[in-house]
Amino acid sequence: MTAKFIRALRNDWKYINDWRGFANSSDGEGVVITYNFMTKVPDEPRVDPLPEINTSFSRYSTVEQTVVRAALKIWSAYANVKFVKVDTQDAGIMFGQHRMYDPVEGFAGTLLFDPAKQAMRPTDVWLKSKGFTDGFLTTHRGLEVALHEIGHALGLKHPFAGKARLTGDDRDSSIMSQDYSGPYNKPGIYDIAALQSIYGPAHKRMGANTYKIGSDKLIWDGGGIDTVSAASAKAKTYIDMNDGSWSWVGKKAKSLLDDGQSWTGHFTQIEKAIGSRYDDKIVGNELDNIIQGGKGNDTITGGGGADRLFGGAGKDTFVLKSYADMGTLEHHDEIMDLQPGDKIDLRALHTAFRGSGESDAILTPGTGGQFYFNSVSQELRFDADGNGVIDAAVAVHANTINQAILIIF
Ligand SMILES: [Zn+2]
Repeated sequence: MTAKFIRALRNDWKYINDWRGFANSSDGEGVVITYNFMTKVPDEPRVDPLPEINTSFSRYSTVEQTVVRAALKIWSAYANVKFVKVDTQDAGIMFGQHRMYDPVEGFAGTLLFDPAKQAMRPTDVWLKSKGFTDGFLTTHRGLEVALHEIGHALGLKHPFAGKARLTGDDRDSSIMSQDYSGPYNKPGIYDIAALQSIYGPAHKRMGANTYKIGSDKLIWDGGGIDTVSAASAKAKTYIDMNDGSWSWVGKKAKSLLDDGQSWTGHFTQIEKAIGSRYDDKIVGNELDNIIQGGKGNDTITGGGGADRLFGGAGKDTFVLKSYADMGTLEHHDEIMDLQPGDKIDLRALHTAFRGSGESDAILTPGTGGQFYFNSVSQELRFDADGNGVIDAAVAVHANTINQAILIIF
């Protein structure tokens, strides 16, 4: 379920013929969009024009073009959307200008994607001119309106209309609202998160980055081996390493704007997590994660991939949710530091423990699942279907494993 603050900004309305209200064919796919400035009133406008189109059309001055270019660059800095200037008058986005009367300062159509033709339908963006060179657009408000209207072209909607909405401070933190309270030259975190849910993040932040749970409100990243850390958190944390997920220090709040809240953007890949000194819950994603619980009694769920799990000090619990989550037989999860007081939670597997032994011969073929601890390879070895042959394994660095360590129902 996509978060409400993202649904409140996405134009997911279905058009005729199942067209998408976005420029790409599916979520996460980056796009290249051409643009240009109108040199005359268009013969076939892509959005319903206002009457002023014929009486007060004006061309963009060089300075005004620079403002539009700046707005395009700002959106490109966050999402995988590239803009290329072309010389034709039928570009993906054509920018026009004419006089407008309060409260109208601009309006825009939306780039649509036609799945049948596998093609993008172009659109127009109209911005207010004062009817003379270097007018409205060169003010701070001009750039803010340009960002807002380009947001519409890319598929963002007003958060105060439609089924899912933002309210209060959440609404005012969006550049797509009427009462935007943020800086004129930067979209809000919900705007960025929504745009990234459509096009994926920009190919930036490509190195090894560390993001702080609770203080980085919007965690997004274009690539590299990255870490989310709660090492300096002042309370227990919930860390979800999956993309499009909410993490927090202390308690989950109603709004991401509240203290201690973090959102990991859609299509952002995080490889490592570090817990706080308190009792954390950490959930891994489908990648090969390295998760360190640190101090405290932590609960760690590796999720898919071959994860390396460190409980650290305290009584930690390692949760194995499914055989698939363990990885493959050859390349599987590894519990790196099982210590007295730690537990392994196998309740989801409905499996029976056959004790410790040196080979698979300890297994007794029968009905249902079974497993044992191989003391030579230091692995829990699972026979999911009960036919006496191993199907899955998890390495556990421990001398022995007994019933006291396992939670099985
Ligand atoms: Zn609008």
